Amino acid sequence: MTPEFDAVIVGAGFGGMGAAIALQEMGYSRLSILDREDDLGGTWHVNHYPGLAVDIASVTYSYSFAPNPNWTRLFAPGAELKRYAEHIADTYDLRHAMRFGVLVERAEWDDDAQFWRVTTADGEEITGRFLVTATGFLSQPHTPDFPGIDSFTGAVLHTTRWDDAHDVSGERVAVIGTGATAVQLIPEIAERAEALTVFQRTPIWVVPKIDFPIPPVVRRLFARVPATQKAARKVNDALLEALMIVGVLHFRQAKPMNKAAALLAKAHLRLSVRDRATRRALTPDYDFGCKRPTFSNKYFRAFNRRNTRLETSPIERFDADGIVTVDGRHTPIDTLVLATGFNLWDVNFPALQIIGREGRDLGAFWRDNRFQAYEGITVPRFPNLLSLNSPYSYSGLSYFTTIESQMGHMRRLLGELQRRDAVSFEVTEEANDAFLTEVTERLGDSVFYRGQCSTARSYYFNQHGEAALLRPTSTTASFRAASTFPLSDYEFRTPATV
Ligand code: NAP
Repeated sequence: MTPEFDAVIVGAGFGGMGAAIALQEMGYSRLSILDREDDLGGTWHVNHYPGLAVDIASVTYSYSFAPNPNWTRLFAPGAELKRYAEHIADTYDLRHAMRFGVLVERAEWDDDAQFWRVTTADGEEITGRFLVTATGFLSQPHTPDFPGIDSFTGAVLHTTRWDDAHDVSGERVAVIGTGATAVQLIPEIAERAEALTVFQRTPIWVVPKIDFPIPPVVRRLFARVPATQKAARKVNDALLEALMIVGVLHFRQAKPMNKAAALLAKAHLRLSVRDRATRRALTPDYDFGCKRPTFSNKYFRAFNRRNTRLETSPIERFDADGIVTVDGRHTPIDTLVLATGFNLWDVNFPALQIIGREGRDLGAFWRDNRFQAYEGITVPRFPNLLSLNSPYSYSGLSYFTTIESQMGHMRRLLGELQRRDAVSFEVTEEANDAFLTEVTERLGDSVFYRGQCSTARSYYFNQHGEAALLRPTSTTASFRAASTFPLSDYEFRTPATV
């Protein structure tokens, strides 16, 4: 039996598009890229709140094989990422394979037919030889169930569902959350609102952001001599890599480097915020790197404004016109902004029900055992599944280094599948176990286990208390592994052995 498509790819963001590019290169042209949103770009389509920008310099935060000389700033605004996504879809002729407004609910491996049966919320069944899940890490918005929130009569905006027509000028606004999103958004709201109250549960480490417009002359140079942009990328990659490896992954060996980063953030806070009590409240009590640190020159300064107040008393409940904190104080508001992040470990991983060989349910397997995936991409008993947003897959450097190393893995794996005239691959239990043991051991030196992270409330940690998101190797090592992993780590089935 022949499936309708070579591959069904769930997600039309940079992950799904990267996988599609790799598959096309390997000669797979019958692709179906499905996305629940109404356009491509993933997180850069969904998010368009004021202040949105990348927080990894754009020379690095882009595909290395498709450099964009047109970034207007070192840290490009979100809208430029959305345009870059459109450019990629056009350049690699991906749009014709994309369908939007399609919510994929379930996928089941058909072991007799050796392909995936994918079911949408509308009940449609789509079949594909390969299933690629590229649904993002941060794609299931978290909306806390605050007591009484339904009785609140004002406007409620989650940062992932921003209403561009909503003008907060002259309004009393509350922002709940102080993660990377809030750090970008709060200075923008503070400038417009009549009064802003920021409800903080856990402070975040914030270091200065060295950002500036890229002059047109440099952009022209990048366009005419691509090697110059490549060199800029290499320098930035090396800096980020050093920060990640030394400060986070090798915390045990290089604690002073981590402490230096924390000192920089504290100095930044000291120089930015006038009020001592506010400074104290904004100072984290967990180690730098337990939670994703952020970059901003404007966030701390917003708390010097007369219209902006930091509230650290926990939220007790909502009423019709505001928020009541546990100390009994009432903050009247017109608009509530939920910068409350994403749910990774309960409703993501995976974002749809995936049933593999012998009825194994991926979500249940991960929850009942440990979150795991060989090289952060394949799982035993899930033949022909390429799960891009897997445990231990995320390269701390950038999502693009993550996807590019996965594209490398796909090329090697599918190249071997083609060489053998096979119809399916499946990673062995032994190879998967060995990889899990290796990443677990490596993480033993990281800030997550050697540092003080217990008060961080970091989404890097799952319900088992494991920091199972980051791949604890350098990106150089992950690229090397993608092109050299032992092919004997996989079993291949040919039509004769099915
Ligand atoms: P986040 O880091 O998970 O932050 C969510 C915030 O909401 C936290 O401060 C959290 O407090 C608070 N919160 C959640 N539930 C709460 C509750 N019930 N009561 C009070 N506070 C509550 O989410 P995010 O800020 O959206 O950022 C997520 C990630 O997206 C970032 O780490 C980053 O990787 C990425 N991001 C990237 C960019 C960029 O590159 N431009 C921009 C934004 C985001 P606790 O800490 O106490 O839980």
